[in-house]
Amino acid sequence: MKIEVDYDLCENHAQCVFAAPDAFRMNASDELEFDAEVDDSLREDVQSAADACPVQAIRITG
Ligand code: SF4
Repeated sequence: MKIEVDYDLCENHAQCVFAAPDAFRMNASDELEFDAEVDDSLREDVQSAADACPVQAIRITG
């Protein structure tokens, strides 16, 4: 599955990291990093991350 994050919207609050730590992480500068393509087994976690994002910056595209 494929993930996109709109960095113009993202405010680095990290709710997505708590919901799907295998796909999203904060780097040393406290900025979001994520895997653009992850295994389908993470779909539920990534959907939870998208639902939890307060600015709806996460889109599942595939
Ligand atoms: S939850 Fe949304 S705003 Fe927060 S870090 Fe993740 S993508 Fe960015």
